Amino acid sequence: MLDNISIVLVNPSHPGNIGAAARAMKTMGLSQLCLVAPDDFPSGTATALASGADDILRNARVCETLDEALADYQFVVGTSARVRGVSLPLVDPRDCAQSIIDEAMTHKVALIFGREDKGLTNEQLRRCHLQVHIPTNEAFSSLNLGAAVQVLCYELRMMQLISADALEMPQPRSHELANMDDMERYYDHLYQVLMEIGFLDHSSHEKIMAKLRRLYGRVRPDSVELSILRGILSETQRCLASEEKE
Ligand code: SAH
Repeated sequence: MLDNISIVLVNPSHPGNIGAAARAMKTMGLSQLCLVAPDDFPSGTATALASGADDILRNARVCETLDEALADYQFVVGTSARVRGVSLPLVDPRDCAQSIIDEAMTHKVALIFGREDKGLTNEQLRRCHLQVHIPTNEAFSSLNLGAAVQVLCYELRMMQLISADALEMPQPRSHELANMDDMERYYDHLYQVLMEIGFLDHSSHEKIMAKLRRLYGRVRPDSVELSILRGILSETQRCLASEEKE
């Protein structure tokens, strides 16, 4: 899925930053790099800073214009060191990663970065569906290009790991969810026990039972969990009965 995500560097001036971006990408499992009109590429400096992520540099797509670079993408996210008034939804890196990972399940996504000295122009940003700003110190907000790529690739990786976990983790519920009938019988039983132990009284019972229903409704116990809860109620009644006998 990360293969559906491209990092696009628009008109980068320092080849070292291209190498650093490639390294940042590879450490986080991304591989698709696109360079739009780089000042100096290929370059020994880029290769040196890539520190072994040469394959990403070798496979990088080089385009003349941003339009050419973006032609095949369905979702484009722009990065900005400053919050700009370009009437684009503005998100933080985490929300941005969530949107990108969701989109990348089925679409090709480009995450675009601006030139070191100028950033993306407002016109370039307007091509984007979303704008992401890394919430840096307002008085010193601009990260080095390679560092910005690293932060965003890290968030993408974290989000991808979370979604993969969600898909791959064995489902903790191996039993059917309790049905409405079981739940109603449970609520009757719970009501009875809470009355017996004096937790509920006739004035408060409706409100509290409604809150308890809401709580169990959120949890949605399965049949085994519900029979444990029923067991606790029965045991409570048994204790009460034996106390009464004494
Ligand atoms: N002087 C430029 C800074 C460009 S920094 C400006 O003010 O826009 C080069 C690129 O790094 C930016 O275009 C952006 O892609 C990325 N970048 C730097 N700091 C960032 C931040 N805080 N949030 C998001 N991207 C950032």
